Amino acid sequence: MVTHGVGTIRDALPAHAIEVGSDPLGGPARNSVGGWPFLDDTQAWPSCFCGERMALFFQFDVPLDLGPFGGDHLLVFHCREHNDASEPECADGRLVPGYWDAPQPPYPRPFWRVLLQQNAVLPTAEPEPSVCALPLTLRPFADATDRRGLGAQAFKVGGTPSWAQDPEYYTCACGVDLAYLCQVPEGMEFAVHPGQPEQPYSVAADSYGLFLGNEVYLLACPAHCDPAAVWPVNQN
Ligand SMILES: [Zn+2]
Ligand SMILES: [Zn+2]
Repeated sequence: MVTHGVGTIRDALPAHAIEVGSDPLGGPARNSVGGWPFLDDTQAWPSCFCGERMALFFQFDVPLDLGPFGGDHLLVFHCREHNDASEPECADGRLVPGYWDAPQPPYPRPFWRVLLQQNAVLPTAEPEPSVCALPLTLRPFADATDRRGLGAQAFKVGGTPSWAQDPEYYTCACGVDLAYLCQVPEGMEFAVHPGQPEQPYSVAADSYGLFLGNEVYLLACPAHCDPAAVWPVNQN
């Protein structure tokens, strides 16, 4: 049984559309699909419980006007082999302690890792091997809400989520309410290099997706209680 709070109207952060470029990156860039992850010194490249190194899907510097997250570096990793939807586990009205590492039945741990890094200065030596490295551009836009109070269904950071179903909000294990930060539209495909293993249930042999192609709404802990204190809500 999944329990969660129904969203209340909250002040929206400024919105930035995230645009994927078409010219492959030849070297590290802080805003990228695939590419060279920028991680804090103490942060290793995340691995899945299955032993596979997770694929870097995208990363970018959060614009400075985005409240408590401004200046953070957001990275979204997801296992190639394990492709499923996220299921929140709550206790006492909060996500369970260490939810970013907690069992995700039937899996012993989550098959994704979303990080907000605050001291990500240098890129890794090697790039993400599977997902093609492409530049990302962030551009401010007016995320006008519709009559139901929903924002644009787009790849964006800030603004207002376009909830495909009822709004979902959660309280972090640390007691602070998670705040909506970023949305990845349903069915978004990420091109992979030729010869890479296929992703189960993906729509094409030459692309990977996140969370079975669900719409993804990243809710993050404004208190930064842990770099991985981000919950990926899945809806369709
Ligand atoms: Zn895995
Ligand atoms: Zn927290």
